[in-house]
Amino acid sequence: MRNPSSPPLLRASDIHVAFRRGGLLHRRQHPVLQGLSMTLEEGCCLGIVGESGSGKSTLGRVLVGLLRPDRGEVAVDGKNLYGTGRGASFHPCSVVFQDYVTSVNPRFSVEEIIAEPLRKGRDGARDRKERVLALLEKVGLSSDLLRRRPHQLSGGQLQRICIARAVASRPRFILLDEATSSLDVSVQVQVMDLLAELRRDEGLSLLFITHDLTAVTYLCDAVLFMNDGRIVERVDDLSRLHAVGDIHSRRLLDAAT
Ligand code: ADP
Ligand code: MG
Repeated sequence: MRNPSSPPLLRASDIHVAFRRGGLLHRRQHPVLQGLSMTLEEGCCLGIVGESGSGKSTLGRVLVGLLRPDRGEVAVDGKNLYGTGRGASFHPCSVVFQDYVTSVNPRFSVEEIIAEPLRKGRDGARDRKERVLALLEKVGLSSDLLRRRPHQLSGGQLQRICIARAVASRPRFILLDEATSSLDVSVQVQVMDLLAELRRDEGLSLLFITHDLTAVTYLCDAVLFMNDGRIVERVDDLSRLHAVGDIHSRRLLDAAT
């Protein structure tokens, strides 16, 4: 059992990020994350929702080690993710993006795509192949697809393959950034069922970024509402979700009018 005094899987404290905007003469800093703190507990699926432009993807990039914040700290298992170098000092997680087509090499076969993160390990070619086959089965795809290239697959199949690749490196957690948003509704449900199954069977911890409250209700244990680079609310009782979501949407509408 987890020791209650041990650090959470992921902790972000007082994160600030600003991007430069404007030409050379009128260059100014545009704050995108403004003093944001959050935690992800082991085995949890945490939703992050908010309007477009509220800073969800920027936060995701900070949390997985792709973007060093201007200020603040990210710790995974109590270890500082950004050491003294430019980038992250280790890579504890995988990412599945919305744009599954551009996130794979179009010349790679399905086998090569899933095996990519396994190459760094010590397994021989035969063990790697076995693991690829097991992963394909785990994401509900047939081994007949092994030799296919991305253009010979449907969107749903390709996103399942991206999920298999994300699981392959045995990450501490997986970030899904609008990972189901470009899929047809029926395929979205299938992919979310797959994620729920992986959570149950593998005890995966997930950060699920979306603008879709229904998807959050389906999959998550808790949800953070973001607005303008801040977390405005954390909801742990998801039966309150739609009521809370309505309040935030109304506030946004009021602010805009
Ligand atoms: P969301 O994912 O919630 O839609 P983003 O994190 O993508 O929001 O973007 C938040 C804000 O930061 C937006 O105003 C966006 O234009 C800006 N932004 C994001 N990435 C960059 C970047 N690399 N350079 C400049 N501005 C950026
Ligand atoms: Mg985004």
